[in-house]
Amino acid sequence: MKRRNFLKSTAAGAASLWLGTSAKASSFFKPSAAGKMVVISSSNGLRATGRAMELMQQGHDALDSVIAGVNIVESDPNDMTVGYGGLPNEDGVVQLDSCCMHGPTHNAGAVGALEGIKNPSLVARLVMERTDHVLLVGQGALRFARAHGFKEENLLTDKARRAWLHWKEKRKDNDWFPPEDADRDKNGKAALDIPFTYGTITCLGLDGNGDISGVTTTSGLSYKIPGRVGDSPIIGAGLYVDNEVGACGSTGRGEENLKNLTCHLIVEFMRQGMSPQKACMAGLKRVVEKAKYMPRLMKDNGRPAFNIRYYAINKAGEFGGVSIYGPAEYALHDGKENKMRKAEYLYEWKK
Ligand code: ASP
Repeated sequence: MKRRNFLKSTAAGAASLWLGTSAKASSFFKPSAAGKMVVISSSNGLRATGRAMELMQQGHDALDSVIAGVNIVESDPNDMTVGYGGLPNEDGVVQLDSCCMHGPTHNAGAVGALEGIKNPSLVARLVMERTDHVLLVGQGALRFARAHGFKEENLLTDKARRAWLHWKEKRKDNDWFPPEDADRDKNGKAALDIPFTYGTITCLGLDGNGDISGVTTTSGLSYKIPGRVGDSPIIGAGLYVDNEVGACGSTGRGEENLKNLTCHLIVEFMRQGMSPQKACMAGLKRVVEKAKYMPRLMKDNGRPAFNIRYYAINKAGEFGGVSIYGPAEYALHDGKENKMRKAEYLYEWKK
């Protein structure tokens, strides 16, 4: 597909005006049979890995491809952890975080607490390509998106609003309460009883040129304090790419990644010679060790009271995925097959 047509077909429509370095890379690139391609994503990312690989196989670079992949999930109202349809903050407002990192230029862009824009990953990319900065937040990020022609939309779907309202009404520390005939599902549980929840999509790609890029995008922790920014837009925390080594992305409790810069750590472990799988597990264990300093992060059985997951690829096309709690899965396209793979985990859920 010609680049011009590809841009038209992406979710951003008129806002897809990137002309940066990766555009140059992809315009001249012809896929080579020698170059092993791989795309990895979180468990909600099978459509993203499929789309990203399709684009890489057509000759697009990894950044174009992984962003187009996650745009599918950002725009999907049924994924309540990312973009449009994501669960809102405690005021009922959807605030989105995203970052991307481009291996060949070692450049990055990010947005935090962005409201009203369905595809924050596209805005993050423009921060990288059209400013001298890496991170824009809140109103400044929104004004920047507007300047680039992004359309503002109400991102709070009715389903997400009802989940938020139910969460608010069942809390004991305020004056809101649910109706007596609150909708119940067939198990007798309130139909939209979605508790505090994490969820994000991260997607990393190694293209046929041997270049690596990644993106992470999220609505973050549901019902969060307005203005709370997690790890997803922080380079080194929720995403890190080193074109000479590999890339790592994360989903789960962002606060632990902010304190450990775990994605950067995992890429450094790979630089020291660990496989992506071993590096992810070493990073995960570091997070668990450090969490023990703070008793409220641990359960009585000595296990973490939170979950976190890492996904990584290296320059050779090897990959890995881990989770504190399992069974857990991740999406992977190895150039031949696009399917869910089992992630290694430390503990079983509910034990
Ligand atoms: N890491 C995200 C955050 O803390 C949420 C998640 O991945 O579940 O905002």
